[in-house]
Amino acid sequence: MTKTIKCSDVGVDCDWSDSANTEEELMKKVQVHAKEHGFNTIPPELLAKVKASIKEK
Ligand SMILES: [Zn+2]
Repeated sequence: MTKTIKCSDVGVDCDWSDSANTEEELMKKVQVHAKEHGFNTIPPELLAKVKASIKEK
């Protein structure tokens, strides 16, 4: 099972997407990418949106 996230699903106008085998790994990638949007740390409300947008394939 692969977990995928799309930045556009979180409501950001961005075509970034990534995937990982675990949510933990994926969240690390999200945190790295979030810095490109100016978030050094992800606010809890955004984190909740991100987790809700993770899809499993
Ligand atoms: Zn993005």
